[in-house]
Amino acid sequence: MARKFFVGGNWKCNGTLDEVKKIVSILNEAEVPPEDVVEVVVSPPFVFLPLVKSLLRSDFSVAAQNCWVRRGGAFTGEISAEMLINSNIPWVIVGHSERRLLLNESNEFVGDKVAYALLQGLKVIACVGETLEQRESGSTMNVVAAQTKAIADRVSHWENVVLAYEPVWAIGTGKVATPAQAQEVHSELRKWLHDNVGPEVAASVRIIYGGSVNGANCEEQAAQPDVDGFLVGGASLKPEFIDIIKSAT
Ligand code: PEP
Repeated sequence: MARKFFVGGNWKCNGTLDEVKKIVSILNEAEVPPEDVVEVVVSPPFVFLPLVKSLLRSDFSVAAQNCWVRRGGAFTGEISAEMLINSNIPWVIVGHSERRLLLNESNEFVGDKVAYALLQGLKVIACVGETLEQRESGSTMNVVAAQTKAIADRVSHWENVVLAYEPVWAIGTGKVATPAQAQEVHSELRKWLHDNVGPEVAASVRIIYGGSVNGANCEEQAAQPDVDGFLVGGASLKPEFIDIIKSAT
């Protein structure tokens, strides 16, 4: 089953109004492969989402960087999945390691969020990945499988899920996983999905890599058979994001 290449740009907590407008105009002017070849989704901070959505070219889409775990209400500072749907925001990133580690989001909490967001009609980029300590102790696959299991236990439809494998030690560090390291985890993850969810889901779910992807290393990563695209942090704020999108072909 063909899996369309997916490139997400996670802008994190960055950008002024002027900077955001500039990034959007660079994206809008870029020549990139057509929509049937690559799906591009950028994720600005909440306050810029409506503006970016209104200015961005129609073949690119937008994602929120988080949403609340259930129906909105007395949860100061949170944004609900219903609000995103109400604002025509189609995608949300859930379980980014910065939230898992800095805000103590557990596997179960992330699984609940993924399930609730999907139920409301959002498409979800669900992030998993091990710390350096976990990799060095040989538990990468156990960690990633446990994170994925917490999602699989709560989700029965995977059409609207993209899994992002993001080793924590590679995020924002300049230490990109080697293409072989990324491929190894992606293929193990696909096997895990095959054995624990089903062959159709394993064949169709896009597993994208994130962690210090840039214009210089994307081609080699994109050539790996189980790397279906990227979640890009730092480089998504720069013109080289266009080169990363082009690595789809
Ligand atoms: C990320 O934050 O999802 C990410 C992959 O960051 P960077 O590309 O900067 O490592």
